[in-house]
Amino acid sequence: MATLNPVRGTQDILPDEHRLFAKVEDTARAVAARYGYGEISTPIFEFSEVFKRTLGETSDIVTKEMYSFEKGDDRLTLRPEGTAGVARAVMSNGLRQHLPLKFFYRGPMFRYERPQKGRRRQFHQIGVELLGVAEPLGDVEAIALGHHILGDLGLADKVTLEINSLGDTESRHAYRERLVAYLSQFTNQLSEDSKIRLDKNPLRILDSKDEGDRRIVAEAPLLGDSLNDASRAFFDAVLAGLAALGIPAQLNPRLVRGLDYYSHTAFEFTTTALGAQGTVLAGGRYDGLFEMMGGPATPGIGWAAGIERLTMLIDAASAEPRPIALIPMGAAAELETLRLSHSLRHAGFNVDLGYAGNMKSRMKRADKIKALAAVIIGDNELQRCAATVRDMDSGVQSDVSLNSLEQHLTRYRERV
Ligand code: ATP
Ligand code: MG
Repeated sequence: MATLNPVRGTQDILPDEHRLFAKVEDTARAVAARYGYGEISTPIFEFSEVFKRTLGETSDIVTKEMYSFEKGDDRLTLRPEGTAGVARAVMSNGLRQHLPLKFFYRGPMFRYERPQKGRRRQFHQIGVELLGVAEPLGDVEAIALGHHILGDLGLADKVTLEINSLGDTESRHAYRERLVAYLSQFTNQLSEDSKIRLDKNPLRILDSKDEGDRRIVAEAPLLGDSLNDASRAFFDAVLAGLAALGIPAQLNPRLVRGLDYYSHTAFEFTTTALGAQGTVLAGGRYDGLFEMMGGPATPGIGWAAGIERLTMLIDAASAEPRPIALIPMGAAAELETLRLSHSLRHAGFNVDLGYAGNMKSRMKRADKIKALAAVIIGDNELQRCAATVRDMDSGVQSDVSLNSLEQHLTRYRERV
């Protein structure tokens, strides 16, 4: 029956996967806090206008990917990304008086895309926004924060930072003319989407996923050659800041962002380990965003990273809990083990208590759940108020009195 399957492009997050999600989110939240970024949650749906105005009428997201619906007189959309909602929240809550503002967020996003590895219709992001900082050091901080989180997740060697500058409005206008002059030679060969973009937003063609478009774009003039002096100086300051922090960055003159509100710095952390879906974290400066929403000019920079893509990269074993297995042998020991499980859990240990089975099957289970140690209590141990503790990694067994059991087990804490 169709209704017993999840909707295409969505998935249940089961406990093993959730542990990896938690590792990504907890690491990101903790590192972000060290940079002064406080957590914000906005609703998962907004008025459709919030996204239409900001992402641009010709963006892939607005033209094809939004989950929109009507309820009463309202046109609503499940959020496809986090930045527009955060900007809306800043204005709704009158927070601009407290600029600069620093936010961390996490949560589900929704885009109607063709599902494949690393591409889902409900996916999850962590992200940050730094608002009210027009200086290039803001860009450096946001990128350094992303780099720091990826490093703490053990991904430093698996990702490459690619960076480019889209320049200021004047530079982009100058570039737009050169780009349109170039692309107009190929009008007939462009994809239908890109034919429309040629009039409305030609820069977006640079980000097209269409193979034919990509071949044409490969020979297009470069944005970097159209940067005016101020934009060049801004970009140089960003690069100098990254160099000062020892964060390697690779210039990618063809990197653009798919959304309308970006200017100056655009960057992506990419990996070759995930096939076609190689971008794990992407962001840039969006000084035009607030004005597009009808608010006052407010500089901003931020990024978002796909949690599903990150969890595919991180070492699954590093997020695995390793419990202490309690194994009673015989009815008399059952109550004693139950009491022990209670006090050990209250003392902060992760304890596994099987409810049935003989010694052999219980030891098998201890193995399967990757227990650090098995605590075995039989009649003999019970009489002596002791337990046999088996180190599951080394196989070494020791006789430990119940009084000092908790103390004895603390050695396993560091290994969890
Ligand atoms: P792509 O070029 O892969 O479509 P994008 O430019 O649409 O990416 P952003 O809007 O910048 O992506 O989102 C930031 C990050 O969120 C991406 O780098 C990726 O890790 C993740 N992401 C985006 N769309 C999806 C999706 N449909 N499924 C899973 N993760 C996604
Ligand atoms: Mg996309």
